[in-house]
Amino acid sequence: MPEQPPHRWTRRTTQQSRVFAMPGWSAALARGLAMRCPSCGQASAFAGWFTIRARCPRCDAPLGQVPCDTLPPYLTIVIGLGIIGGGLMIADRNGALSYATSLIVFIPLAIVLQLLLQRPVKGVVLALMMKNDMIRRPVEKP
Ligand SMILES: [Zn+2]
Repeated sequence: MPEQPPHRWTRRTTQQSRVFAMPGWSAALARGLAMRCPSCGQASAFAGWFTIRARCPRCDAPLGQVPCDTLPPYLTIVIGLGIIGGGLMIADRNGALSYATSLIVFIPLAIVLQLLLQRPVKGVVLALMMKNDMIRRPVEKP
């Protein structure tokens, strides 16, 4: 099977909006969940643990211009608290869970969950925003 060329980011010069090659919803969300570039899926979308790359090194998609700054941490907290709350309710269903044990177990678990969930959630939000063409436009200087 011949290898498909990577998607290329193109700019429509006659209009101010950008047109870019994006896969279908399921592929884009799966790529985001896998923390890959939602456009091509060939490269990591992250430059560090939390930082989104400015541009994809494979398809040149402007990942850094997607405004996914505050929604991923909020969603990560909501998901993490749901898991922690459910775990606390299950662990303390007979009322025998001590305060110290709950602190020792669930505070580190909450921190680890936040660290582990942040990147996939941010990747999904990145894919959602790219599919909806939510890209920061460069500031035009007068
Ligand atoms: Zn890419």
